[in-house]
Amino acid sequence: MSTATAPDAVIRATGISVDYQGEADTHAVRDVSLELMRGEILGIAGESGCGKSTLAYALTRLLQAPAALVGGSLEYRPADGPPVDVLALDPAELRAFRWSEIAMVFQGAMNSLNPVTRLRKQFDDIFEAHRPDMDRAARLARARELLDTVGIDPDRVMSYAHELSGGMRQRVGIAMALALDPHVIIMDEPTTALDVVVQREIIDEIKRLQAQLGLSIVFITHDLSLLLELSDRIAIMYAGEIVEIGTTDEIGQWPAHPYTSALLHSFPELEAENPDLMGIPGSPPDLRRPPAGCPFAARCPYVFDACRTIDPPLQTPRHRPASDGWLVACHLHDPELAPDGPPEALRDGLAPAAVAR
Ligand code: SF4
Repeated sequence: MSTATAPDAVIRATGISVDYQGEADTHAVRDVSLELMRGEILGIAGESGCGKSTLAYALTRLLQAPAALVGGSLEYRPADGPPVDVLALDPAELRAFRWSEIAMVFQGAMNSLNPVTRLRKQFDDIFEAHRPDMDRAARLARARELLDTVGIDPDRVMSYAHELSGGMRQRVGIAMALALDPHVIIMDEPTTALDVVVQREIIDEIKRLQAQLGLSIVFITHDLSLLLELSDRIAIMYAGEIVEIGTTDEIGQWPAHPYTSALLHSFPELEAENPDLMGIPGSPPDLRRPPAGCPFAARCPYVFDACRTIDPPLQTPRHRPASDGWLVACHLHDPELAPDGPPEALRDGLAPAAVAR
C-alpha cells in the first residue's frame, strides 16, 4: 500500500512491517507506509494493540526482541542535506541521530525520571554523552532554558522528580526530548496518565512548542478526540495497518472507514457535557493469524461478501470530494465492489458540531 508523496516530507516510511517473533509470529505492524511532513503534527490513533506504539518504536529504531523489523524502508530527509537511510545507520550513528534529529517522548516518560538525582544531573547526563564540549555552566544554562521552554520555573532544575506533579514530570520528559534541538519528535501516549485539565495544558504546550520551534511531531494516542484538537493530519490504525489517513477535518467530519466512524463515537469530546457514546462490539483479530479479507470484517456493521476474502487496499474515498492524501482501506469506496457507494450513515459524516475542533 502507499500514501501520496509530497516533496517536503521529513520522514518517509515505506512498507514497514514488524513481527513479534515466537512460536507463531505476531504480525503487529503490516506494510505501513506514511510520510511526516515538515512542520506538521501527524496523529496516529487506534485501540490498544493496533500496532501504533510498535510503529513508533520502528520509526526510531528502538524495537527490542522479540520485536523485529521484517520489512520496509525508512528515510529521514533533513532540510539541508541528502536523505538518510535510517535502517542503514550503525549503532554510533544511530545514537547521535536519535537525539539530535529524532527524539521520543514515551508513554511513561513522567515515571522514567531518576528518583534519586536532581533534574540538573539528568540533563547533565544527556549533554555529557552527546555534547562533551559543553562546560558545566553551559549545561546548567541549557537545562534551565529547556525547563523554561516547557513552562516550568527554571529553578526547578534543582528538584527531584518526586517534588513535581505528574504534569510537570511529563513536561520535563518533553524538555529532555528537546535537549539537542531535534527536528522530529515522536510522542507515544504522552498524556494518557494525566487528568483532563493537565492533559489540556500539555496539549496546548505541545502546540505552542511546535509553532515556536517548527517541530514535526508524530503524536500517538488511543484517544481520537485528542487528535482532533491537536493534529494537522490523522492516520487510523487497525490490526497493524493504516485503514484511513487524511486531514483532521476529513477524518473528524467525514470519516470514510466504518472503524474511524466507530472510534469517533466511542470517546467523549474534551468539553462535551452529555457525550452520546457507543462502544465498538467485538475485538480485533488475532495477528498471529490475520484474516484473509478486511481485518475489520468481524466487527463491521456494513460487511459484505468481498470483505471476507479480499483485503481492501488504500484508495480515495468516494463519499466526499477528497484531497490527494485522503485514503481509506474499505471496499465500500470501490465502485466495482460496492456500486451503491457507502451507506448513508457514512456519507453524511458527523455533524460539524460533533467535532471537537
Ligand atoms: Fe467493513 Fe467491508 Fe469496509 Fe472492511 S471492507 S470496513 S468489512 S465494509
